[in-house]
Amino acid sequence: MTDLPQKTGWNPDDYRIARRKMVELQLKKRGIRDARVLETMFRVPRHLFVDEAMAAQSYSDSPLPIGHGQTISQPYIVALMVEALNLKPSDKVLEIGSGSGYQTAILAALAGEVFGVERLEAIYQRGRENLQRLGSANIHLKLDDGTLGWPENSPYDAIVVAAGGPKVPQPLVDQLAPGGRLIVPVGPTEKSQQLTLVTKDPQGVISRTPLADCRFVALVGHHGW
Ligand code: SAH
Repeated sequence: MTDLPQKTGWNPDDYRIARRKMVELQLKKRGIRDARVLETMFRVPRHLFVDEAMAAQSYSDSPLPIGHGQTISQPYIVALMVEALNLKPSDKVLEIGSGSGYQTAILAALAGEVFGVERLEAIYQRGRENLQRLGSANIHLKLDDGTLGWPENSPYDAIVVAAGGPKVPQPLVDQLAPGGRLIVPVGPTEKSQQLTLVTKDPQGVISRTPLADCRFVALVGHHGW
């Protein structure tokens, strides 16, 4: 992927330096180890997924607003979730809450095909434009309630939910392939959630492992808030 020109006064080298620092200080220092994940986080230009006015902050250690009360996730949280998915280049991935498209681009670089679902139309359009500019061919997006999954293309080797709900949406568990991994923030309120790894073994047995405390925007939908 290449850096496109921006009006911040920063040149592509400045962005590359900021990304290198992000990888070293925010990801490696906090325990992200997977070399493919680290390399991809270094390559994908996060500044192209936020408003130009915020491009200079785009490698900071925090989520940033993308409009309509939503945020582009903090780089560390994206890396943590993507690393836990343990993606293979042939994997089919479902992403709920594709938002700006940033995490979608990371997933598309690491997996075979990515299906992204976003429920807010303005954000969906923006995410689609962002991803078209980068030209990833293996991304499919739809505007819908992602708590219902995307049954037509199931089963998925990996599913990631970028918004937090009261429980693990059952349709997502149903659409997970044997051997599949699902990462989803779950919690009793919108303010306190646990990033949860749900796995389905080759016999179809489901296990749940808590990964970290976290705070995501609300998963709004049939199986969400
Ligand atoms: N990965 C995105 C995160 C965006 S924030 C990024 O880094 O840009 C979470 C997104 O989830 C928001 O855009 C929100 O609109 C969306 N969302 C919330 N509930 C949803 C649902 N039921 N289906 C699909 N998207 C949903």
